[in-house]
Amino acid sequence: MTAHRILFLVLDGIGDRPCPELSGKTPLESARTPVLDSLASGGICGIMDTIRPGIRPGSDTAHLSLLGYDPGMYYTGRGPLEAVGSGIQMSPGMIGLRANYATLDSGGLISDRRAGRIHDTTILSKAIEEGVDLSSFGLSIRFRSGAGHRAALALSGKGLSDKVSSNDPKKEGNKPLTVKALSDDAGADMTAGALNEFIRQSHEILETHPINKARKEAGESPANIILVRGAGVMGQFEPFPERYGMKGAVISAAALITGIGNAVGLETIAVPGITGSVNTNLQGKVQAALDTLESFPFVLVNIKGADESGHDGKPIQKRDFISRIDEHLMPFTQLDDTIIIICGDHSTPCSVKDHSADPVPVLIHGEGVRTDPVDRFTEALCAMGGLCRIQGHDLLPIGLDLVNLSKKFGA
Ligand code: ZN
Ligand code: ZN
Repeated sequence: MTAHRILFLVLDGIGDRPCPELSGKTPLESARTPVLDSLASGGICGIMDTIRPGIRPGSDTAHLSLLGYDPGMYYTGRGPLEAVGSGIQMSPGMIGLRANYATLDSGGLISDRRAGRIHDTTILSKAIEEGVDLSSFGLSIRFRSGAGHRAALALSGKGLSDKVSSNDPKKEGNKPLTVKALSDDAGADMTAGALNEFIRQSHEILETHPINKARKEAGESPANIILVRGAGVMGQFEPFPERYGMKGAVISAAALITGIGNAVGLETIAVPGITGSVNTNLQGKVQAALDTLESFPFVLVNIKGADESGHDGKPIQKRDFISRIDEHLMPFTQLDDTIIIICGDHSTPCSVKDHSADPVPVLIHGEGVRTDPVDRFTEALCAMGGLCRIQGHDLLPIGLDLVNLSKKFGA
């Protein structure tokens, strides 16, 4: 008998380096993780270079690789994936950009790049999508809110290019930049012109919007300008169900991750109260994973919080969050008919405050899985496991073989 389902849990940024604050241990080593340890003990472990040794992965390229889509071939920038994740239907050839609501003061300077950390911009985004007219460029737009001050913009039409710069001055107190063509073809010129016109028109709409009038009266920063960046062309992805013979779903708070999932043909499962932060609704996520496995044989779950603690350089917070994740994973130990894969997408060492190329721990647990002597899920012990050191694109094929969905090579 083999299992028929795969639960693929990505603990974002889980890997780390020895931390002086934790007496030289990593946050994962010093966390209390009885559930992860028992899964490691009953399964097989290893370490993994998500892309290749020495390559520092982004969460986006790492997840593409983990899903078996070579990022070298499929990665076209963060914009289009983030647009998909915000609910925009992107077809191949469309241009996607990441966007931020920001505050432009009366002197024409960006005074807050996050518009006072505005919570909900849904109504403003709707006003922009309906009000901005780029028909003189032969283009149409889609504009959707993401979490907090974030949003995504998509352009469709003929002659578009993703070779355009950003208007984000990166530092507060500076003027927004003019979007420029980054190559000398006509498409880049036209796209840059269209984006500048988008920024001008959306600013007009936002400046006079009742929500912003109210924010100003309340002494809050108005969300009155859009900063765009990360332009990319939407690529063509061979759908996951056709590629692997199983349909799947994705559970994540990050628009980027759900965007990648949707782009490859996974369905998004919404969970109330998930934030992509250490205050996320872990129980809701775990329950949603269990429920989704009833109808989808493949479920990808991303838990983001540890990555955030790594970026903030907070090893104790990272350790405590890992312990808290573990407390919620108990129901996974009761799953039958399921191969459980747990790994990081990259390391986010607190000492680096960014992603590093250090390999991440990985474990596989379930029916038919060979075991090894590793009994703790840590960077150091997983390195002694039976999977040895693999690459990100190896992992899903190993899982597919365990559910009997890999094709035989040869006779
Ligand atoms: Zn990540
Ligand atoms: Zn990160």
